[in-house]
Amino acid sequence: MQNKKITKREIASIRKVKLQEHSPIHAAGPVIEPGNWEKYDPFLLMMEDKFQKGAFDVHPHRGIETVTYVIEGAIEHYDSHSGEGGVLGPGDVQWMTAGSGVVHNEVPSEGITAHSLQLWINLPREKKMTAPRYQNLKGSEVPVREEEGAVFKVFSGSSKGVVSPTLNHVPVTMVEVRMEKGAEASQELPGSYKGFIYIIEGIGIFGENEVQGANGQVLELGDGGNAESEIAVKAEGPLRFLLYAGEPVKEQVVARGPFVMNTEEEIRTAYKEYMNGTFLK
Ligand code: FE
Repeated sequence: MQNKKITKREIASIRKVKLQEHSPIHAAGPVIEPGNWEKYDPFLLMMEDKFQKGAFDVHPHRGIETVTYVIEGAIEHYDSHSGEGGVLGPGDVQWMTAGSGVVHNEVPSEGITAHSLQLWINLPREKKMTAPRYQNLKGSEVPVREEEGAVFKVFSGSSKGVVSPTLNHVPVTMVEVRMEKGAEASQELPGSYKGFIYIIEGIGIFGENEVQGANGQVLELGDGGNAESEIAVKAEGPLRFLLYAGEPVKEQVVARGPFVMNTEEEIRTAYKEYMNGTFLK
């Protein structure tokens, strides 16, 4: 019998996320800094935000998907395109495909400070102008996998046979993992995926090189080889983290403001259309 080679991933880098005050009602810091297009492909950026009503204004997006995870508080989402709205609470996710274009706003409920993580996923050339789509994923409703002392909520992709129904244009695994002190668990990933872990609470030991990570830190996953891979975790106390990994798009990225396209020309078109009222398809 032939043994299938599984690459045990290391942690390639670790960094503390720092929030800066942008205004009295908004603090933000990059979890994934924009500009590292190749390093985190298909992920373009992730921002951690603490904000109140009024921090953001109505704005457009094109050429990406945004994935918003609420850590604390509540965010109401308004969309001028489809009229779709909804409230996201702690542990909920909105998976929004901007595609050809959405115009929206994200607003914390009155008097509430929302604490959230927003990831931008690149779309490949042939999907840049796909139809917009919203998937509201309630933390209490997503598929769950349990190991001894560990609970995996599968927001996208799969975890050892537990498969999420979330629709993807770019294959992405997103799991929220809660572990008890002393528990050990692992998540499998295709070797080609790039990804990272963001620790929300607690302390754990991550990866084959046994890197200690704590709340507020982001850990870049090491190379996964060219077959299957997995990332192992041991909890040193109660632990909660998010794991994001996806298939690289490997295309030219031209990003400006809320638009991410393949060429300067496409960016100019997006701005022109937004200005002259022909943006929404
Ligand atoms: Fe937005």
